[in-house]
Amino acid sequence: MFEHREQLSGWGNCPRETCRTASPGTWSAQHAAVMDSPSVIARGMGRSYGDPALNSEGLVLNQTAMRRMLSFDDRTGILECEAGVSFAEIIEVLLPRGWFLPTSPGTKFVSVGGAIAADVHGKNHHRVGSIGNFIHEIQLLLASGDVLICSPQSNSDVFQATVGGMGLTGIIQTAKLQLTRVPSAYCKVTYQRTKNLDHTLEQFIDTDGGYEYSVAWVDCLSGGKSLGRSVLMLGNGAVPEELNTSQRAQPYALPVQRSKTVPGWFPASLMNRASIRAFNEVFYRAPRPSQAIVDFDKYFYPLDGLNHWNRMYGAQGFVQYQAWFPETTSRQGLIELLAQIVASGRGSFLAVLKSCGAASPGMLSFLDRGHTLALDFKNTGPDLLTLSQELDRIVLQHGGRLYLAKDAMMNAETFAAMYPRLPEFRQVQAAVDPEGKFISSQARRLQIICERRPETAAQTTQPHSQLVQ
Ligand SMILES: Cc1cc2nc3c(=O)[nH]c(=O)nc-3n(C[C@H](O)[C@H](O)[C@H](O)COP(=O)(O)OP(=O)(O)OC[C@H]3O[C@@H](n4cnc5c(N)ncnc54)[C@H](O)[C@@H]3O)c2cc1C
Repeated sequence: MFEHREQLSGWGNCPRETCRTASPGTWSAQHAAVMDSPSVIARGMGRSYGDPALNSEGLVLNQTAMRRMLSFDDRTGILECEAGVSFAEIIEVLLPRGWFLPTSPGTKFVSVGGAIAADVHGKNHHRVGSIGNFIHEIQLLLASGDVLICSPQSNSDVFQATVGGMGLTGIIQTAKLQLTRVPSAYCKVTYQRTKNLDHTLEQFIDTDGGYEYSVAWVDCLSGGKSLGRSVLMLGNGAVPEELNTSQRAQPYALPVQRSKTVPGWFPASLMNRASIRAFNEVFYRAPRPSQAIVDFDKYFYPLDGLNHWNRMYGAQGFVQYQAWFPETTSRQGLIELLAQIVASGRGSFLAVLKSCGAASPGMLSFLDRGHTLALDFKNTGPDLLTLSQELDRIVLQHGGRLYLAKDAMMNAETFAAMYPRLPEFRQVQAAVDPEGKFISSQARRLQIICERRPETAAQTTQPHSQLVQ
């Protein structure tokens, strides 16, 4: 199979690594690539931010050429597909038939394999949890070359290690995914402005029962009495009676494409405290109706309308810091985290707070009951690393954790302290992959798998050099 070397990164463009890559188009080619290489990691659409889909010391096996939809049952809503199928493709084919994803991240440009490996969540975690709750079955290519079928009922330990397991148990070849019926391709969205964090958290409590979807944009530059002031965007699927005449004529019409493209790297200097403060002020105060009917693209995927928006942070890239706090500590944890960010003077256009429901079965899955906050930070090297270590300390102190799909800066000790089911995961992972064939740059940095090969044993817990230069 054709292999080449290329510079790869995650969505944050940081770190960048030169990796050996291959893109098999058949299961036999995929099998051969896995058997021929001592070290492999799968890659979907590269929408994780840091280094989970990089492998500078081995092969990165791109899954996007393997993207056939194999079957769909219109009565049950179960889709069987190859792991390279994207959420965008599922929407394109099945939304016109009245079906949508049971939960979806803030971009539809993710693969089914990448979504399962990160156990992604959406704006409805408080209601339905993460995608792992909707996977009936996975077909997994193991390091031995065997193919294992796992599900919540059969080989359930491997299933639980694979959902949220960041590709470290094997290659997900196919999945059976439960879709959800929706009343239309539109959401009825209610907007609420809050004056501070307490007000935001109260609004979550008051509205979680009444809305399927909820998310708050947070002004992370605002301190003092306005710390945590937000705009909540609460949504429910819109029924045909709520649509206008033209929408009602075609309630499942695919949203009109409205993409624009960021043409090249923006000068990183444009992302500064003043520009972010100005944006936040305008966004917070913008006149908006208290309710509106908006199409799914606008509500679920506002960022997808701007291709390559990640270039806006400049060629040095950026990091997304996403933390979760348990219910009992989230208020205090969020106050301390936001106060530290305000004090650092680093802003983020994108600071998103969500309310979270029960954990999914994944051993390394991210969310449980509580709240999660995600922010983007421009990569500025050592001082960003210092800030992130201060933030990590706050998260740890409050029993929280960081999201592997976004992480680029954690160290191994912090990771182990945040993920209580890590020993269980390592046991299953060692049983299915005793030589540690499936490994990513992130897994080396965080020592996610037990050290068995000399290559991994030599690793330290240092953060990536592109963040410390
Ligand atoms: C704009 C934006 C918004 C986002 N919003 C959210 C959000 O709201 N909620 C959320 O949960 N996430 C969110 N994410 C993160 C994203 O959903 C995850 O990182 C997801 O894993 C990306 O899928 P991918 O196909 O691009 O996977 P990649 O980034 O290519 O890979 C991610 C991981 O999956 C593994 N993997 C990929 N394919 C396979 C396979 N076939 N078999 C085994 N392992 C595999 C890789 O090894 C890697 O560890 C967002 C990302 C972006 C860019």
